[in-house]
Amino acid sequence: MQTMYQKMDDAELASALADLKAQVAEVKARGLKLDMARGKPSPEQVDISRPMLDLLSSSADLTDEGVDCSNYGCFEGIPSARKLAGEFLGVPAEQTIVLGSSSLNIMQDVIVHYWEKGVPGHTPWHKLEGVKWLCPAPGYDRHFGLTEDLGIQNIPVRMTETGPDMDEVERLVATDPSIKGMFCVPKYSNPTGVTYSDETVRRLATMECAAPDFRIVWDDAYAVHDFGEKPEKLANIFDFAREAGNEDRILAVASTSKITFPGAGIAFFGSSPSNVAEVASTLKVGLISANKLNQLMHVRFLPTLDAVREHMERHAEFLRPRFACVQSKLEEGLGGTGCATWTHPNGGYFVSFDGPEGSAKRVGALCKEMGVTMTPAGATWPYGEDPRDTNIRIAPSYPSVEELSAALDVLVLAVKLVSAELASE
Ligand code: PLP
Repeated sequence: MQTMYQKMDDAELASALADLKAQVAEVKARGLKLDMARGKPSPEQVDISRPMLDLLSSSADLTDEGVDCSNYGCFEGIPSARKLAGEFLGVPAEQTIVLGSSSLNIMQDVIVHYWEKGVPGHTPWHKLEGVKWLCPAPGYDRHFGLTEDLGIQNIPVRMTETGPDMDEVERLVATDPSIKGMFCVPKYSNPTGVTYSDETVRRLATMECAAPDFRIVWDDAYAVHDFGEKPEKLANIFDFAREAGNEDRILAVASTSKITFPGAGIAFFGSSPSNVAEVASTLKVGLISANKLNQLMHVRFLPTLDAVREHMERHAEFLRPRFACVQSKLEEGLGGTGCATWTHPNGGYFVSFDGPEGSAKRVGALCKEMGVTMTPAGATWPYGEDPRDTNIRIAPSYPSVEELSAALDVLVLAVKLVSAELASE
């Protein structure tokens, strides 16, 4: 599609450029300092979980279904927390482990475990030449960092409106045994906000893989993070996988980072009975017991998935006006210009924005000059290499609506100037 600047004649374009440059100079002079870089809840959102902190005291009962949470033991997690983890991930409680605060940490532990020791019955991945991993892109930079850190080769696969391009995924995994796994954020994906269709979930669970030790990291980080009118529904991948005899393929994780306190929540792992036993046996080498008092506090505050959903409705009240602000500012500033497209998520933490080809790095730098920090352009692709240099992740949750509104004005201005410059080159 042509941008409005590409349609202008030389004189019109020169005048538009001069006008946009003057506006940029004006913004620079205002000395703004705004941040739209990382997806974290606003301080007001975090505050809604403060009452949880009052639930444990020196006189509280510190047992859960007979388990003493104030001492070692019960490695897999306390019974009520495992029940909640099972509801979250769609597996029986016995197929879960509840650990420390970070799901990213669990993902790293499990991938490193297979890297060092291998999937049982198979060669450890570190002994193989050229291990590869599929990375739906745009995607989550910290996922890509886990495999990159081990020297695994990250291969981008394009995200579509129904999830990763499944024709491409199936083609790659069917023929290349060195592809050992794939990252998925199946609901309100980071950053596109896409929820995988039932058909995508089924194909992932049942596809033929050349590597018998192929694994899917099923990161359901935004399982309950709805703010749209109608919550989107994700199919249970374990149901499809079990039927196809592929339950070992699925490594599901989630956490309460964006439900209670980021960095101080509880994190869930769910998989097949044999994977859970095997992963537990390895983790037990380095951990006698996770923080069970934190688990207890969480399940007293949020005992069921229904209670979690009610709590999430309160989070949504903070998120809705921010996401609405992004939509209205982008539409107002860039709608009909041909300079950009962006997603309209019903949940999650991000809006994925695409400018003209070759624009994203320049837009990011220009925003920075005007005092607005964006997620670095390219971060949504493995190795920071967005092949078309178009994608920018917008993270609207943390700033106030006023700050966000000002930051989006800056983004719109930057996109317009870079689009005009590209048209003039
Ligand atoms: N997974 C995804 C898709 C995320 O977006 C994030 C945080 O932004 C995380 C995992 C981090 O989760 P945790 O705090 O449980 O490590």
